[in-house]
Amino acid sequence: MAADVSRASKCIVAGGGPAGIMAGYLLARGGIDVTVLEKHADFLRDFRGDTIHPSTMDALAELGLLEDFLRLPHQEVRYAEGDIEGERLRIADFRRLSTRSKFIAFIPQWDFLNFMAERAQAFPQFTLLMQTEAIDLVHDGGRVAGVKVSSPSGERELRADLVIAADGRHSRLREAAGLKVEDLGAPMDVLWFKLPRGPEDPGAVLGRIKAGQALVMLDRGDYWQCALIIRKGTADAVKAQGLEAFRTRVAEFIGPSATQGVASLDDVKLLTVRVDRLETWHKPGLLFIGDAAHAMSPVGGVGINLAIQDAIAAANILILPLRAGAVTEDDLSKVERRRTFPTWATQWFQTAVQNRVIDPVLRSSRPPRLPWLLRFLQRYLPIVQWIPAWLIGVGFRPEHVDLDAIDGPGGARQ
Ligand SMILES: Cc1cc2nc3c(=O)[nH]c(=O)nc-3n(C[C@H](O)[C@H](O)[C@H](O)COP(=O)(O)OP(=O)(O)OC[C@H]3O[C@@H](n4cnc5c(N)ncnc54)[C@H](O)[C@@H]3O)c2cc1C
Repeated sequence: MAADVSRASKCIVAGGGPAGIMAGYLLARGGIDVTVLEKHADFLRDFRGDTIHPSTMDALAELGLLEDFLRLPHQEVRYAEGDIEGERLRIADFRRLSTRSKFIAFIPQWDFLNFMAERAQAFPQFTLLMQTEAIDLVHDGGRVAGVKVSSPSGERELRADLVIAADGRHSRLREAAGLKVEDLGAPMDVLWFKLPRGPEDPGAVLGRIKAGQALVMLDRGDYWQCALIIRKGTADAVKAQGLEAFRTRVAEFIGPSATQGVASLDDVKLLTVRVDRLETWHKPGLLFIGDAAHAMSPVGGVGINLAIQDAIAAANILILPLRAGAVTEDDLSKVERRRTFPTWATQWFQTAVQNRVIDPVLRSSRPPRLPWLLRFLQRYLPIVQWIPAWLIGVGFRPEHVDLDAIDGPGGARQ
């Protein structure tokens, strides 16, 4: 069934992260003229969330992309473990999930974005403008009618029937839209760095807890991606103590030898943790998705998954109105209503872990102890490992691609 392209809406997606690229891919595949704007010249940013979750891989399978995706170099992590003062326990076992892929795929985010962008470029309706930053909204007749952009060739206006703002946690379009943000707060910040990983080291996500601090280690093949969790606002003080003091801190978790892998404090990067969400995700002609709508805590490492699920929900709901050239605010509100519960529930879970587990650990000077009941349940009740695996790997209300809507009934558009 060929769409009447003369009536179809034009769409601009501001931001070429997981949410924006996935939204751009799906809309272009659905026949919508879509332009994705990315302010950087490439997708190469060191570690900003390199996890592709089982529910995202289910969506890739629905799109017929999973096999090719899994040909990219990646690590498959099947469980997450905790180490509390030397006592090991398995927190999450992804092998218990009912998804197609029973693991988290660790892959540099730029490889995933390049993969999706290349697939999107196969559709003539898809345009990707790199080094093009959305700096303001353009209004016309009481609705958003495009964006003002800045690029090496100067500033100009790009007009569209719908602007999807997927410009991340520091969203400029959020400010431009003047939408209210609810800040949920966070007691911690994170220092990211790499350590060498020996061939004999276990392949998993490892969380290690000691009095006053915690370290999360992610298996990245020949190295560990490490996240040292520190009290909010103390990063400058930690760095001011110097490299040796930093190494000593990390050595408390893993012994001194591997810490020589941190050659300079310049290699230690701060992630200022914030958890927030917009009170309303849309205005006439404008919709926010991904971190721009809701910045996620790193707890559970689910930000990419939520961003991608938002993009799928947005495409499923908006593709028909876009094709008909008539997206209403009610359509945009349907996207918000569909994604509010998963966002709210995930942030509720994250803030509970932040406030009830991480904050007490960061404040304590005594070694933490695991309650015996939890230790017992953890070992003998498999569901106790399934719940965190499901929360991380699948999450609340996982989205499935509506292929009838995107490709047309029976895949007619493909
Ligand atoms: C250090 C770090 C580690 C993380 N670890 C994990 C993890 O392990 N697992 C996980 O799931 N999540 C993780 N996250 C969170 C995850 O990266 C985000 O939740 C996810 O990337 C959000 O996707 P997004 O597309 O909404 O936004 P982003 O990924 O932030 O993408 C926004 C894109 O828009 C571009 N942009 C910004 N402003 C503009 C503009 N005005 N015009 C044009 N382009 C613009 C940016 O350059 C960027 O490419 C981590 C985040 C950080 C910072």
